[in-house]
Amino acid sequence: MRITTVGGGPAGLYAAILLKRGDPTRHVTVYERNAPDDTFGWGVVFSAATLAELEDTDAISYDRLLRACARWDPVDVEHRGRVVRALGNRFAAISRKRLLQILQERCGELGVDLRFETEVDPTDLGGADLVLAADGINSRVRDQYADVFAPRRRVEGGRFIWLGTTRRYDAFTFVFAEHEAGVFQAHAYPYDTELATFIVECAPEVWQRAGLDTRAAGELAPGESDPHAIKFCEELFADHLGGHPLMGNYSRWLEWTTLSNRAWHHDRLALLGDAAHTAHFSIGSGTKLAMEDAIALARAVDTTTDVASALVAYEAERKPVVERMQEVARESLQWFSRTDRYVHLPTPQLAFGLLARSRLTYERIRQRDPTFVTAVDRWFAARSQPRGEPTAPTAAPPPAFAPARIAGLGLGNRMVLASEEVATGRDGQPDEATPTRLAALAAGGAGLALVERVAVTPEGRITPETPGCYTDEQEAAWRDARAAARERADDVAVGMQLVHAGARGATRPRREGVDVPLRDAWPLVAASSRPYTPRSPAPTPLDAEGRVRVREAFADAARRAAHAGFDLVEVHLGHGFLLGGYWSPLTGDADDWRDRLAYPGEVVAAVLEALDGAATLSVCWSASDLERGGTSPEDAVAGARTLADAGVGLFNVVAGQTTPRGAPGYEPHWGAGWSDLIRNEAGVPTIASGAIRDPLDASHVLAGGQADLCVLGRPHPAVPGWAHDL
Ligand SMILES: Cc1cc2nc3c(=O)[nH]c(=O)nc-3n(C[C@H](O)[C@H](O)[C@H](O)COP(=O)(O)OP(=O)(O)OC[C@H]3O[C@@H](n4cnc5c(N)ncnc54)[C@H](O)[C@@H]3O)c2cc1C
Repeated sequence: MRITTVGGGPAGLYAAILLKRGDPTRHVTVYERNAPDDTFGWGVVFSAATLAELEDTDAISYDRLLRACARWDPVDVEHRGRVVRALGNRFAAISRKRLLQILQERCGELGVDLRFETEVDPTDLGGADLVLAADGINSRVRDQYADVFAPRRRVEGGRFIWLGTTRRYDAFTFVFAEHEAGVFQAHAYPYDTELATFIVECAPEVWQRAGLDTRAAGELAPGESDPHAIKFCEELFADHLGGHPLMGNYSRWLEWTTLSNRAWHHDRLALLGDAAHTAHFSIGSGTKLAMEDAIALARAVDTTTDVASALVAYEAERKPVVERMQEVARESLQWFSRTDRYVHLPTPQLAFGLLARSRLTYERIRQRDPTFVTAVDRWFAARSQPRGEPTAPTAAPPPAFAPARIAGLGLGNRMVLASEEVATGRDGQPDEATPTRLAALAAGGAGLALVERVAVTPEGRITPETPGCYTDEQEAAWRDARAAARERADDVAVGMQLVHAGARGATRPRREGVDVPLRDAWPLVAASSRPYTPRSPAPTPLDAEGRVRVREAFADAARRAAHAGFDLVEVHLGHGFLLGGYWSPLTGDADDWRDRLAYPGEVVAAVLEALDGAATLSVCWSASDLERGGTSPEDAVAGARTLADAGVGLFNVVAGQTTPRGAPGYEPHWGAGWSDLIRNEAGVPTIASGAIRDPLDASHVLAGGQADLCVLGRPHPAVPGWAHDL
């Protein structure tokens, strides 16, 4: 069998080793356009899991590689003069040049034909039985068959430059430097006894504001490093570097490109490594993925009878694994491209968020380093202590169990149990079981029990069973329910979320389907005449008189809720209900966010006045419609700031459902990112929700500073009928 490998990087060389070792009769040739020791960059990182895989695959190259690696365990986060250390990470790194030497040497021993300084013409791939395109991100071989592979390039994340330094490290070190243009971070790690990799990164707008775009990379000669960039970074990180220089090696400011391909093989040709995919450097996986591709490909060739089946098996094994890794890398990339948002967080919270950025759970971080997580818990508990209490508890619970005081509301812990099934209404009147159910919700263990979706007018009900809070009888029923909750759990705060259904009104009860219109629907009013679904009745846009009526209805219902003893009143400004309809450009008639917020803002002001401090006001705030053309993150932040200035103390952040097309993703704690946006960019307290399943999930979100409170996912699937099971 004749095998041609285009590219002598980690993917091409490792594949050549394994294919030749698998069957010495194979003729394996590697073509590399550069000289053997002519390479870019500094060190590359491997995790313990990758090393274990390399050991099982080819023990000889693994032994050499391990001897050449620097190994360490801690991650340090250096921020505003403090260093926080987390253990249990088990990393190794090696100089890229040394890695290639080891792989080249091993190729030579096995009889692989290595041809350096030989550029392959992709239009002439010769007559080999198998061709491996391992020619890197700019693969010309792949692009020759672009119609088959359909490569997709996404330029994303910040600007970065890959440098080296003589400063010694004993940890993977993240350093945050605040410049007048914004935040820069360095990712630094040792890779041998003398040298360390030092990657500097910042958001694109920070790079521009710092004037770093004035010298475009195009002005540099091929292979030249950007002296201006190196000097800038040396000055910026001078305190941290302590006199050590930064060094370039083909170093210049770059933009990250995430590359993926629709197919990974065609005929006798397979893509490997960066030619097939890239994953942001902040999860240190490019070389690992390249070498794992080589392992999978060689195994497929060794265990199948023909090249065609081998390539099918290779792609089927690797593509899903790599795509998942790319998703994780994207989350990491996004975290690092918005460090301006996080740099104001206290150091323990920043450090936790950094470690947790790519799906490492609270529990997993605790398993790796219980001391680190205990310190985060203690810090969190200390800052959560009510005034006058000792500030440093010796045994601190996970953050979900820490008390909170937000907008005047004292909470025993930071979990929220929210349910719209507390009351079944007839003509808006809560049924007799309401006190029992509210008591059960309050006794559920959370610091706040929230009754969701209580209507402010009869036509504002979602279904005929939606309870209301607009008559004296309804108020009395809620008072009884609140008293029952107090009896079961007198230290638990209870909130009522007020809604006007708008275009989503007059539907059948949920058990009969979502947003299924009633046959004898009552007339609907909304921000515009757009029906919620194609089968929903068209609402009538509210006129000036109608807007006053609804505003007063919200104020009246809020007053009643406070009289009934509710500690918190929440106004629903999302999910396509009436006020959310004004706020979204998809359903309202105004473009500018100020105009879209005008009426909901009026309602909020009326509710604040009606409450007059008798209860805390929260809004259910739609941070995104999860649809093209919907509310932008900038508008969501600006709107939240405006409402906070008007006196809103808490934002229950939601996303989607403005129209039926805006469906959420449902991955674990998917909503926390929207809460993070509002909390850390608008600087307001938030509640996060969205697949936060238990106190550990909540602790993950809270410890990383993404929210102040968390709604735990509905307990119904786990405990059917929980609310009735008393
Ligand atoms: C800033 C930065 C930091 C990184 N840090 C890490 C890290 O910590 N850990 C990690 O695992 N990865 C890291 N990576 C990624 C890593 O460098 C790549 O993912 C890895 O090198 C991919 O290996 P490869 O063999 O697929 O491609 P490459 O290493 O790009 O090799 C491709 C080779 O093909 C040759 N070639 C191209 N075209 C031809 C042709 N027509 N004929 C002959 N030869 C050709 C090139 O000269 C090159 O040598 C980092 C990348 C960057 C940019």
